[in-house]
Amino acid sequence: MRQVKCNRCGYIGDESEFPKGHDFLQNEYISKCANTECDNRQSPSEASTGVSGDDQPFEFIGEVASEEAAMAERKPVITINESKAEIFGAKCAALVKDGYRLDSSDCGFLGVEYDYCASWLAIFVDTPETS
Ligand SMILES: [Zn+2]
Repeated sequence: MRQVKCNRCGYIGDESEFPKGHDFLQNEYISKCANTECDNRQSPSEASTGVSGDDQPFEFIGEVASEEAAMAERKPVITINESKAEIFGAKCAALVKDGYRLDSSDCGFLGVEYDYCASWLAIFVDTPETS
């Protein structure tokens, strides 16, 4: 779902609110402002030539991010498991910088018996927003 802004009256509404037309290439475009008191409109030729920048009568102001999409952007828990200390440190530092909080860390040996493969483990949790 996209939102559209009228550059004349400043009205912002859902794309579906705005009346549509079809240009010469049969592409759908916004033909008129959704605000009935505004006479901002776009002709098929204007839509076809593609007025750009500040001159365009209407502009899309991006996707409306759903709550679900916002949640997917950040993982609540991130686990790091590295056998190289430098990489482990760099990853941890990046997460801390990103607002994650170190919840647990451990180091030890991976594998069984005499397989001395050093390993660093850290669990980061997303810092709850404090107000
Ligand atoms: Zn308008």
